[in-house]
Amino acid sequence: MNPLILDGRKVAQSVKDELMAQICELKGKGVTPKLATILVGNDEASKTYVQMKANTCHKLGMESERVFLPEETTTDELLDVIQRLNSDHQVHGILLQHPVPSHIDERKAFDEIALEKDVDGVTSHGFGATTFQLGAYPCCTPAAILQVIDYYNLELEGKHAVIIGRSPILGKPVSMMLLNRNATVTICHSRTENLDQIVKQADVVVAAVGRPKFVKGEWLKEGSIVLDAGYNPGNIGDADYESCYPKSSAITPVPGGIGPVTISMLLKHTVEAAQRQLNTTKTHSNVS
Ligand code: NAP
Repeated sequence: MNPLILDGRKVAQSVKDELMAQICELKGKGVTPKLATILVGNDEASKTYVQMKANTCHKLGMESERVFLPEETTTDELLDVIQRLNSDHQVHGILLQHPVPSHIDERKAFDEIALEKDVDGVTSHGFGATTFQLGAYPCCTPAAILQVIDYYNLELEGKHAVIIGRSPILGKPVSMMLLNRNATVTICHSRTENLDQIVKQADVVVAAVGRPKFVKGEWLKEGSIVLDAGYNPGNIGDADYESCYPKSSAITPVPGGIGPVTISMLLKHTVEAAQRQLNTTKTHSNVS
């Protein structure tokens, strides 16, 4: 049987279809979900990402606020902007575009985002709460990987998932999320020895390395599932699609795999945040 190609565009569309109905309902209650994005400096790729996020917000009938700060912004100035957005009741989600200039304390800035508005899952508190399944919004790319798995009803329980990469926004959170789904998880990184032998034991491989065509088909066990989160210049994934496809039972292409689902997860989290913040306001006004 031919491997199943996991079509991220189809998954993203199904998420957006559901969101449009929810946004309509929220608007009927006088709330328009709003995402604020903060971009510090002049990185061209980051500008494009922020623009794409704003465009998708508008297409779905959501609002967006874009805050552009100059390269020389200090950590304290950035914290002030985040605090203003935290206390703005019209803003439901906040995204600080990564990377920020190196003189800024990025961790401090991320951790300033209020947990209920951390729709990109970047705060330390959000990571802990995701790991303990306490209802925080997970990072968007890991959430996109889970969304693809769920859309296609792929079995995780008891399966051996090998994650290649341990970054705070991708490898680590997706490992915890797969563990919470009862997969048996192995996390690999740049110091891992005999990586190919470890990948050979995997039922599910998540490629989150940041190196084009890094995972080779010959490393795979016959029939494994390959989820490629990689996105390298020239639209190239972290798995070598040509050699991985024939060995896999299901595989995400690049482009058109995890990437398109990632933005839709950001919007999904923002809509959920608007809904939760509305519920909280109602509860408070009922009490008072
Ligand atoms: P990152 O922060 O650079 O992390 C890369 C990870 O890969 C690190 O943990 C590193 O190990 C590990 N690694 C590097 N070389 C390795 C090797 N030879 N063997 C085994 N592990 C190795 O990257 P990231 O931000 O997680 O991104 C990973 C990929 O996902 C990139 O292709 C990126 O473009 C893509 N991405 C896609 C989206 C999306 O929306 N689809 C979003 C974010 C990222 P150490 O920890 O030991 O250094």
